[in-house]
Amino acid sequence: MRVGDVRAGDAYDRLAAEHEALMQFLYLAPVGLVQTAADGEILMINPVSAQLLMPLQQDGNLVNLFDALAGVAPELRHLCAAFARPRGMVCDGLHIHVDGRTPQVLSLTLLKLDETRLMAVLADVTQQVRRDRQLRQNEAWLGALLTSITDYALVGLDGAGRVSAWNETIARVTGHGEDVVGQPYSVFYPQGATTSDHTHDRLREADQNGWSLDEGPRVRADGSEFWASAMISPLPDRDADVAEPGEAAYCLVLRDVSDKREALDARRKSLFCDHLTGVANRRAFFEAAELELDRNRRAPRPTALVLLDADHFKRINDCHGHAGGDAVLRHLGQLLAATFRQVDVVARVGGEEFAVLLPSTGLDAAVAVAERLRGLVAGRPVAYDGAHIACTVSAGVAVCDGEAPGLDGLMKRADQALYAAKAAGRDRVERWHPALASEARR
Ligand code: GH3
Ligand code: MG
Ligand code: MG
Repeated sequence: MRVGDVRAGDAYDRLAAEHEALMQFLYLAPVGLVQTAADGEILMINPVSAQLLMPLQQDGNLVNLFDALAGVAPELRHLCAAFARPRGMVCDGLHIHVDGRTPQVLSLTLLKLDETRLMAVLADVTQQVRRDRQLRQNEAWLGALLTSITDYALVGLDGAGRVSAWNETIARVTGHGEDVVGQPYSVFYPQGATTSDHTHDRLREADQNGWSLDEGPRVRADGSEFWASAMISPLPDRDADVAEPGEAAYCLVLRDVSDKREALDARRKSLFCDHLTGVANRRAFFEAAELELDRNRRAPRPTALVLLDADHFKRINDCHGHAGGDAVLRHLGQLLAATFRQVDVVARVGGEEFAVLLPSTGLDAAVAVAERLRGLVAGRPVAYDGAHIACTVSAGVAVCDGEAPGLDGLMKRADQALYAAKAAGRDRVERWHPALASEARR
């Protein structure tokens, strides 16, 4: 054997050893690693990814990463298609909300290695997200405390949440005169931005935690809106149960933060908005829904869920192209946002699926709004590229009252009702009833 052959042999062995070490690493890595072809076809997958992805794939057949994630991250395929550079990071730490038996949040980073290969890095970040949420709340609370006192309205509330006395700061921030005394503090909220259940929840939260903070649109006496944080804290020596009108039991601190709003809005949008339709994304939906059902458990009242799915959407894409389909989705987002109240959580939860959570709303009322929306959609074709695209939606409505089935149970019921609407011919609203559950089981 000549010297050169020995060197070539060595180099080959070294490469093989490195390759083996790399495979070992991929196999044993504590995060999920998936290598795919450009169309998402899975070429290599390690055990952690399989464990994370398997619950998403009903038939247990993990063949294509985009398909496996289609229900929870519908935007992925388009993000990749739109990524023009020859290599680089397609998305970094995208949060994917999985609503299994225990809700889970996955973080996905997707790298384009070259024109034919992608590498996905997956991790379960459920715990971090929960901690983050708590930190954000603390941050907001400190922010509210540390800013100068001059732009605050200090409002005394009685045990039932009615304004107990008028002062200069109320006049300065809200423009209200003494006639505001005796009115519920929701007088500072625009119509549809809160419910009387919510305003009571916040008093209860303040009792339990020492404070309750929320931020959003508020309204002045003249009807003009501003953006404000509102913190309620119980007064130390009061008797909230006695609810004497005029006797202050809580302090409401109302702070105009309109100037902060733009920066906050941009941040909130990037975290909680669906990029295509502008309505909430899955993450925002599941956070808000969990919070609402948590409140619901403590103070039972009906909470309704409407699940909507565009009918024969594949045909729309086939006839008018993907961009035409996207235009219809944007249109649906607009109609939904205009039809439901501000306090309702409207979200895009799948490719052409939307969910709306309606606090303090019973089945009949929710069905009525869903029916109104269905009619609007059916009656208004979408103008796109010189054509009019007709579209209809089917909806399933369920309500969580006394025997609260939890978010998963509620989603399942609305889904069974939606399925019934599809089966009955589409362009319909169906309400859940127990027979649907036994049908689904069969
Ligand atoms: P059905 O009435 O039974 O709901 O029929 P469908 O065709 O709507 O059924 P299906 O749920 O199988 O099809 C949904 C289609 O939506 C498939 C997918 O290509 C398309 N889709 C998913 N996300 C998007 C998107 O962001 N934009 C566009 N244009 N299409 C999307
Ligand atoms: Mg669908
Ligand atoms: Mg559909």
